[in-house]
Amino acid sequence: MTGIRCPECNEPILASDDVRLRAVLLAPGITSHRPAHVECLVRPVMSHFLRQCACYAPDRSVREEARATMAALRKLSVRQWN
Ligand SMILES: [Zn+2]
Repeated sequence: MTGIRCPECNEPILASDDVRLRAVLLAPGITSHRPAHVECLVRPVMSHFLRQCACYAPDRSVREEARATMAALRKLSVRQWN
């Protein structure tokens, strides 16, 4: 998957990155699946809830916001389960 760009942040996906397939709409009724960073898939759903979106932390790239969202989610999980 190296060399492919993440459809969320548009940054290259590296061999060390954690990725999952994301559905991409190519045309009405035609979908494909592309690899995306896991944190970039979490960002649109959890970023505002975890106060990591542009409302709370402006001037970050999509990837920076995604990484901060994943870190905040991990912290929340540790608090919830320990
Ligand atoms: Zn990404």
